[in-house]
Amino acid sequence: MSGTVAVEAPARLLLSPPDVGDEERAALLEAFDSGWIAPLGPSVDRFEAEFAARVGMAGATALSSGTAAMHLGLRLVGVGPGDDVLVSTLTFCASANPVAYLGARPVFVDSERRTWNLDPDLVADELARRAAGGRLPAAVVAVDVLGQCADYEPLLAACAAYDVPVVEDAAEALGATYRGRPAGSFGTVAAFSFNGNKVITTSGGGMLVAPDTDLTDRARFLASQAREVAPHYEHAEIGYNYRLSNLLAAMGLAQLRSLDDKVAKRRRIKAAYAAALAGRPGIELMPDAEGGEPTNWLTALTVDPAEAGVTATELRLHLDGCGIEARPMWKPLHRQPVYAGCPRIGGEVADEIFDRGLCLPSGSAMTDGDVDRVVTALGERLDGR
Ligand SMILES: *Cc1c(COP(=O)(O)O)cnc(C)c1O
Repeated sequence: MSGTVAVEAPARLLLSPPDVGDEERAALLEAFDSGWIAPLGPSVDRFEAEFAARVGMAGATALSSGTAAMHLGLRLVGVGPGDDVLVSTLTFCASANPVAYLGARPVFVDSERRTWNLDPDLVADELARRAAGGRLPAAVVAVDVLGQCADYEPLLAACAAYDVPVVEDAAEALGATYRGRPAGSFGTVAAFSFNGNKVITTSGGGMLVAPDTDLTDRARFLASQAREVAPHYEHAEIGYNYRLSNLLAAMGLAQLRSLDDKVAKRRRIKAAYAAALAGRPGIELMPDAEGGEPTNWLTALTVDPAEAGVTATELRLHLDGCGIEARPMWKPLHRQPVYAGCPRIGGEVADEIFDRGLCLPSGSAMTDGDVDRVVTALGERLDGR
């Protein structure tokens, strides 16, 4: 022990750190002590059942990640080598990478301004064009970006007209609704993530849900190395090792119990940012689209430099200097080097959101003081100090 008094800098404020506590710790240890470690067990079954009920779906299969859920979901709806799949461009790479795992090609679709999600009109036009040419995509990946549902009414109508399945990437949207229905209930299948930064976490994990259990039963089979019923190891198909462990499922059950509180907290954080930034020229928060209740997984804003007098990058760097993590919006996948050469549809909405966007700390464990810290730092830079 030294005799000097250390003046501690406030801890760095992160974008969306895990929000876990005594209940998750107890659940994890209880599962450990139960002996169900290797790796499936009763907590997996319960987590699946409670999760399915929560999103109003008949089937749910707990998996090792959201990416695994997207991979199995795309495979289950029939995506395979040589296929095209329409994918929202303004998203994380894991919305599209599983398309590539299956030997198919993503075709990136621009966002609409109302939801920042894929534009249903662009999808409808593209499906009509491709139907005429006899080359329909094998699926459409709709992403509920930052926890806001895509505009499913026109989107599902367009896809149903050509019998094209929709894979809903609801990784950021657990707890959101669209016209009264929960996120995750819109696709032929839907994927969720329990990565450490998501609305709820199992440290790492995911879930595939579907309106009937045929698809999720098949997902469970494929995720367990496609092991046939036999006393020895018998395999007629290529499977994966994608199941969630019983220990992590126990943590997920505890997290699921506080889902409503966690979502309510993220919404309050967005409301606090909105109130603090109201009237600031050139600063706009991501719109909450009519008819939906987003999770506000991350509060994002756009900066018009001509009006605000700063760029999103300058704001981000100022926050960084204040010990606050902020991040640019998802870089559109059509601009990622790995997807150079993939076709794209639409204009520059997603590009503009990326160029001007900034995501603010939004974790459900934030205190009012934390939010004030961000608001104060933003104000300093916007006032030119
Ligand atoms: C986090 C995320 C994923 C991937 O989930 P993991 O559990 O990290 O594999 C997929 N899509 C979106 C939109 C995400 O935000």
